[in-house]
Amino acid sequence: ENQILAARDVNVRFYTYAGVVHAVSDAYLDIFERETVALVGETGSGKTVFTRALTRLIEPPGRIESGRIYFRRRNGSVVELLKLTESELRDVRGNEISYVFQDPSSALDPLYTAGEHIVETILEHRAVSKDEAWNEAIQLLQDVMIPNPEVRVKSYPHELSGGLRQRVVIATAISNKPRLLIADEPTTNLDVTVQAQILDLLRELRNKYGMSLLLITHNLGIVAEIADRVYVMYGGRIAETADVYTLFESPQHPYTQLLLKCVPNPLKKVEKLESIPGTVPNLIDVKPGCPFAPRCPFAMEICRTQNPPKVELGKGHFVHCWLYSKR
Ligand code: SF4
Repeated sequence: ENQILAARDVNVRFYTYAGVVHAVSDAYLDIFERETVALVGETGSGKTVFTRALTRLIEPPGRIESGRIYFRRRNGSVVELLKLTESELRDVRGNEISYVFQDPSSALDPLYTAGEHIVETILEHRAVSKDEAWNEAIQLLQDVMIPNPEVRVKSYPHELSGGLRQRVVIATAISNKPRLLIADEPTTNLDVTVQAQILDLLRELRNKYGMSLLLITHNLGIVAEIADRVYVMYGGRIAETADVYTLFESPQHPYTQLLLKCVPNPLKKVEKLESIPGTVPNLIDVKPGCPFAPRCPFAMEICRTQNPPKVELGKGHFVHCWLYSKR
């Protein structure tokens, strides 16, 4: 009962002149109440597209080809997000599921004050008076620890530093107390001290508001610090998933192992994920087979022709790799 989201067999394709891009293939995700889940992968792994697909934020030439995404709403009812009408979905997005994207500048309209962004989001989803919404906006700025919220509520984005702008974006995202906050590389463009502050803030807000947090990142230091469970994506597919300790202590997928080799001790040290040798896979007109095969030191014949099976190695620990199949 404490599961709030279950995504199954999600496939997203982009129809380009160069061919069909298999951006996300057979992806899945489970999110439980009040947990922090990290989705990890390099640029081009499909992690951002997958999380956008959760609330159908895919625009042409992209298309969600298939999949089922179940979400438990505040009132306890379970809805299938891919089947909702656009207006039913709008009632969920920005309200029960909301997003914080990488670049705070693009999320904020330069012509609107911090308060106006928040008030608009509140009024879109709730029947409260404008005055109440303004009071809530000031309270929210306080919750995201912006100094002098009564003054800052009237600030325009250009009057705020990058860190403060991202706090305004977060305040807007949580203004309707979402069940799930999806944060896509929320600290990438910020300097290191501000990054740590924003992560602390997300963790505090998760506890205070009782939200679940889905964090998309390529930074394993962040994962080690904040996540309860981790999904590793490669080439548009889930490669491995486990709780954070299992994943760091005993990674089983060759890709996860290589990723972690690039970070000496991720549970103790904040390090950035380095690229591993080889090129990021080309996802145009993909044939069956393991996407990691061209870079994998253990690749076998079967890896190049058949999709690897999903193998359960322990409770909640799944790996997609032929090395573990009991053929
Ligand atoms: Fe390597 Fe084969 Fe496993 Fe893919 S399925 S990770 S190529 S061993």
